[in-house]
Amino acid sequence: MATEEKSGAEPYRVLVLGAGFGGLYTAVLLSRILGKRAPHVWITVVDRQNYFLFTPMLHSVATGALEPRYVAHSIRKIFRKTRVHAHVGQIERIDLENRQVITAHRALPYDELVISLGSETNFFGNRDLERRAFTLKSLDDAVRINNHIIRQFERAYWEEDPAVKRALLTFVVVGGGPTGVELAGEIYEYAVRELLRDFGRRIERSFIRVVLLEATGRILPSLSELLSTEAIRRLAEIGIEVRLETRLESWDGETVRLSTGESLAAGTLIWAAGVKTNPLVRELPLDRDPQGRIIVRSTLESKSMDHVWVLGDNAHAVDPFEQKPYPPTAQTAVRQARVVAHNIAARILKRPERTFAHHHVGGFVSIGDNYALLSAKQFTLTGILGWFLWNLVYIHKLPIVRYRLFSTFGLLLKVLFERATTEIDLCPKGSRRDGEVDSVRERERRRAG
Ligand SMILES: Cc1cc2nc3c(=O)[nH]c(=O)nc-3n(C[C@H](O)[C@H](O)[C@H](O)COP(=O)(O)OP(=O)(O)OC[C@H]3O[C@@H](n4cnc5c(N)ncnc54)[C@H](O)[C@@H]3O)c2cc1C
Repeated sequence: MATEEKSGAEPYRVLVLGAGFGGLYTAVLLSRILGKRAPHVWITVVDRQNYFLFTPMLHSVATGALEPRYVAHSIRKIFRKTRVHAHVGQIERIDLENRQVITAHRALPYDELVISLGSETNFFGNRDLERRAFTLKSLDDAVRINNHIIRQFERAYWEEDPAVKRALLTFVVVGGGPTGVELAGEIYEYAVRELLRDFGRRIERSFIRVVLLEATGRILPSLSELLSTEAIRRLAEIGIEVRLETRLESWDGETVRLSTGESLAAGTLIWAAGVKTNPLVRELPLDRDPQGRIIVRSTLESKSMDHVWVLGDNAHAVDPFEQKPYPPTAQTAVRQARVVAHNIAARILKRPERTFAHHHVGGFVSIGDNYALLSAKQFTLTGILGWFLWNLVYIHKLPIVRYRLFSTFGLLLKVLFERATTEIDLCPKGSRRDGEVDSVRERERRRAG
């Protein structure tokens, strides 16, 4: 029988929504802080998937460098030695008035609620793009991109028309933030170093084109100006075209139209140009910012409602040093989790609460194989050392030692062995990208026939 059930006291329910960087770390840390104290406290984490997705390495799955299980870690295993319960199910509604959360299976009451449901891709109302473009937010997205890239090579292999061949092998990534930059770098390396070896008999390197579009005048705004320039140099060096101050106007599955008036024939477009907060959060009757994020106090409790804690991509928490909201990153979410866990325990154990004030020291971005840019305070590092540190820091972020070892093993596999070029498409037939994103030639045939 669980400790909580044996205690006999009225249960005090801490309900954590989301097993991502914010939610998972809050639950595990809270369990650690409480230890064997307050056995009447029940900690439950609710998520629609039973794994914790390690997003910083998702682009490696999209480009055949890592198998999905190296970035999707079972939450049941993570919670095994803790007091945390997992409830796997889709959250349908958050009922603040009656202090309960409605999932696909049941209503879950709470005394303390932690909201960390993350964000979703923002297409800024462009329905066509939403229907057609690839995104990189979930494991499913990563596997789909990987399959699509391989399929484009399979189609290009026997294509006789050089223009069609080129279009099939043109990959446009929109968004010069870390996700766009890292993904563009990995796609190029994947195409040129791996796929070309398998398909090289009928495909030349000159057919492969990776274009990174950025609407503003610089990429990687979270890094220094110097590193941003260095990133452009590196991208150009490995063969990626970076277009600054260039907006995407439209993509019909074949042709990308740009704000410069230019058009590119491209069979792939990946949208990495914006996120918006989770729809469940956007409809809550709490003080929110224009992006829909909940405004929190410095303790990370909602400004307008006690016992509701918000963190990660869902929180509008102001950085007291910079006087602007913290960026939506895993780094921020994990740091905030420490404060939320501490404060919930403090409330239960009647101790003083803490405030969240973290000085953002810099960031990391990997670009292709064995290269990363790192900036921390006055310190900058580039190249293979940066790449090594990038991996070390991210693997260290995993919540349990077993998964750190597992991911290090995955990394070793990535370094020692070739990337996978097997198309294993387990997506259900008729899913939107099966129908929407198709080869230029096949679309032509369908139209004609
Ligand atoms: C490709 C990619 C690469 C990234 N790389 C980096 C990086 O290198 N460094 C960095 O600092 N940040 C990175 N980020 C950003 C980082 O992943 C997010 O900022 C971070 O995950 C936010 O944490 P969170 O807890 O708010 O949300 P998440 O970690 O997204 O967790 C939200 C959880 O809520 C669950 N959920 C959502 N809606 C429902 C529902 N209705 N019902 C049930 N469950 C639900 C989801 O399944 C998910 O598990 C990256 C993001 C992406 C997409």
